[in-house]
Amino acid sequence: MPEGLPTVLRVALPIPLPQCFDYLPPKDGRIGPDWLGCRVRVPFGRGDGERVGLVVDVGPAGHQATDLRPVLDRLDAEPLLAGELLDSLRWAAGYYHAPLGELVATALPAPLRAGQPLPDTAVHAWQTTTGGRAAADAGRDGRPRRLLRLLLAGPRDETWLDQAEPGWREPMRRLQARGLVERIRCDPVSPAASGPTAPAPEPTPGQAEALAVLRAGEGFRALLLEGVTGSGKTEVYLRAIAEVLAQGRQALVLVPEIGLTPQTLARFRTRLGVPVLAMHSGLADGERARAWAAMARGEGRVLVGTRSAVFCPLPRAGLIVVDEEHDASYKQQDGVRYHARDLALVRARALGVPVLLGSATPSLESLQNALAGRYGHVRLAQRAGGARPPVVRVLDLRRRPLRDGLCEEALQAIGTCLERGEQALVFRNRRGYAPVLLCHDCGWSARCARCDSAMTVHAGGRRLVCHHCGARAPVPNACPDCASLGLQPQGAGTERLEQALAERFPTARLLRVDRETTRRRDALEKHLASLGNGPGILVGTQMLAKGHDLPNLSLVVVVGVDEGLYSADFRAGEKLAQLLIQVAGRAGRASKPGQVLLQTHHPGHPLLTTLLAGGYPAVAALALAEREAAHFPPFAHLALLRAEADHEAAVQSFLQEAHRLFEAREGVIANGPMPAPMPRRAGKARGQLLLEAARRGPLHAALRDWLPALRALKSARRVRWSLDVDPIDL
Ligand code: ADP
Ligand code: ZN
Ligand code: ZN
Repeated sequence: MPEGLPTVLRVALPIPLPQCFDYLPPKDGRIGPDWLGCRVRVPFGRGDGERVGLVVDVGPAGHQATDLRPVLDRLDAEPLLAGELLDSLRWAAGYYHAPLGELVATALPAPLRAGQPLPDTAVHAWQTTTGGRAAADAGRDGRPRRLLRLLLAGPRDETWLDQAEPGWREPMRRLQARGLVERIRCDPVSPAASGPTAPAPEPTPGQAEALAVLRAGEGFRALLLEGVTGSGKTEVYLRAIAEVLAQGRQALVLVPEIGLTPQTLARFRTRLGVPVLAMHSGLADGERARAWAAMARGEGRVLVGTRSAVFCPLPRAGLIVVDEEHDASYKQQDGVRYHARDLALVRARALGVPVLLGSATPSLESLQNALAGRYGHVRLAQRAGGARPPVVRVLDLRRRPLRDGLCEEALQAIGTCLERGEQALVFRNRRGYAPVLLCHDCGWSARCARCDSAMTVHAGGRRLVCHHCGARAPVPNACPDCASLGLQPQGAGTERLEQALAERFPTARLLRVDRETTRRRDALEKHLASLGNGPGILVGTQMLAKGHDLPNLSLVVVVGVDEGLYSADFRAGEKLAQLLIQVAGRAGRASKPGQVLLQTHHPGHPLLTTLLAGGYPAVAALALAEREAAHFPPFAHLALLRAEADHEAAVQSFLQEAHRLFEAREGVIANGPMPAPMPRRAGKARGQLLLEAARRGPLHAALRDWLPALRALKSARRVRWSLDVDPIDL
């Protein structure tokens, strides 16, 4: 140790600066390795500013500093983030070129980030008293009596009640006040109070093969499980998790934002027989912190969560599952732009546990890893339980009249479906009445003043809304350019489709599901439940592509296929194929065969013909060959420098200087400055610089040298800039 340098605590703080900060121990304190991974409150900046940070190193100060200040408070007696998780965060900070303090902040639920203590995670259950058992048969029917009878079969813990009996607390308190039930603390690790469990079906040969891969050997391995909706992927997850639980270990299941439904949780719960913790954006901060703490203490056994759940501590890890691994919601699009699937792989490797990636439509990245032999690969070809795959047909729209976006053949198919007492889904990934308002006399169209984008027509044709910045305007009475009265909404969004379907099928039950009608996750479930099993029509956006099972749904009509066929984004084809397969998977989940109709003006487009002839595997093979030829991911590695500012000139000069500073090195190319896909958005000019490399190593070495120079640029202060490693939208 260099003579004379004081021992300090190196603290990662949640601020957008790359370095960590040195602090002395508190006045009367002693420094030791036990500080590592604990949160501290420290003075920061001038005046009496304070921050909560994490001690990430304990050692001699980097230099003979005279201005070191002591920490104000130590907030944890035991390390909060240590071992594998802290190492994985360090790795991620390096990989995404983000400050470690920001990664720590991303990993911690808000209350912990703010310095609050780890919450109490005791599990409580309810059971009947002697008096309650006697009273269960007497009295009036109703909620309290039903709860009482439920508890007669055995105690039930509160997470089970939350999931199975929403709104149970009030009636339960009344029972408690009458001395009929009592609240007990139960051991979360071997819960006696788990409620009924459901038996597991015998695995199919494909499922057995997947499970055998997971059982074979020890330590890290990755398995890509490819199977259409209904092919039995979730059954594989459940069996694999059950095996891990039997060894006393924990499982983490990542699901896309849209896939975490109460049904999913209930299914996991009843099959696994242990409390299943959830973590998603719909939960209150306190609940997230509790789930995090329960996992950190090893009490929580199974966590099902969306993107940020990948940062949960797993001291007794046994398995990580990533469902719908191709889903774009795994990529964080602001702050630290991490990809939860990729971090799941990094963590599984560090933890020495298997990782299971499931999808009907795997990302080309994962497929390529499987083809190269880095991942195991099992395909579940058939639908489990005997359901047949849907029949997919293309409806050629050329020279056929469209009525508000639907052709006559589609309308007739919907009519037949309703007559049979079944349900139809009309899928359109565009909300609003119409995507464009056009003047038929001069060609003027309504555009947003602050974005490079058309305004969408809403409210039955009365209002204009920009979907990118939220700007609103009334629809003009006459064309602002030529004063013509011939303004016409072009094309159809969900709102117009709903209106047209209501006119054509006036007696049918009709339900529209998009961001306007359905803001909350549970609203979607309620909505869908209200449709019941009777005949009816669902109209909606991507929100309908997943979630709630609709066993009576036998027809899917897809509107607006063509928009995805001709897009500048190199991932557009992959995304469209994934979406089409996903939506098609909604048809005929039960015994009835389903039908899928794709409306298009381009029936001969290679993507559609390939999809129809060979399904997703054929499209993926085609796309992989194209990517290889064009040197795009997964055959190349990208990083994107984005910048935005009020003025185009500021963006340009920053990106140009950035390009000049970028030292050419073997195998790494910088392209640009180029305009962003939307060069103006919400009044800001936007541009970007794209870095490409055949190998990751040189790209990251280049970024490491480049970023400090970028931060020092004067022009960097006149823009908002960010670096996106492995961007998914260019
Ligand atoms: P996925 O997750 O691929 O959509 P699921 O695991 O949900 O598929 O399975 C679809 C349906 O088939 C479910 O109702 C499930 O219970 C049933 N199922 C799955 N595996 C089997 C099996 N081995 N035997 C019988 N039914 C099965
Ligand atoms: Zn005009
Ligand atoms: Zn706008």
